[in-house]
Amino acid sequence: MQNIMKCRTAAMGGHLERCNQCACERSCFNSCRDRHCPKCQFLPRAQWLEDRQTETLAVSYYHLVFKIPEEIEAIAFQTEK
Ligand SMILES: [Zn+2]
Repeated sequence: MQNIMKCRTAAMGGHLERCNQCACERSCFNSCRDRHCPKCQFLPRAQWLEDRQTETLAVSYYHLVFKIPEEIEAIAFQTEK
């Protein structure tokens, strides 16, 4: 948690970025690279979501939770072969 709180702040140190085309420079703070950090995981998360959306059908999805009577529970949990 300490690293995440310090992510991209002066506490993590910094580096200089330079554009290869115009030689423009800017200083940036280092990131923590923690897999739980929302700043560091923004792009991987966005890519993951985009990848999952290619796997879904073009329909609306709903999460539905319900109970069934105990008498038919064994039937409901059978899997097709
Ligand atoms: Zn981070």
